Amino acid sequence: MHANARICDHCQRAKALRRYCRACSPKAAAIYNREARREAKAAGQRYWLEWWEKTYGEAALTKRREYHQMYMRSYRRRRKKVKAA
Ligand SMILES: [Zn+2]
Repeated sequence: MHANARICDHCQRAKALRRYCRACSPKAAAIYNREARREAKAAGQRYWLEWWEKTYGEAALTKRREYHQMYMRSYRRRRKKVKAA
């Protein structure tokens, strides 16, 4: 493939500078991390567990579940508010 004819890896629309286009370049780290998380999830890897265990030890899984329940609850509340407005 010619170096000057590359298309952005993310949006597949704009011409890439290197891997991403001008608009997607600042988001490169976020795009990469999202992909890495998706692959880890597909492979069944719990890469986050180590961090949670550092803080909560044995209770790590319970604490993480609680955190996500809280997060989703507030997310739905926020979304409801936006919809109502
Ligand atoms: Zn792009």
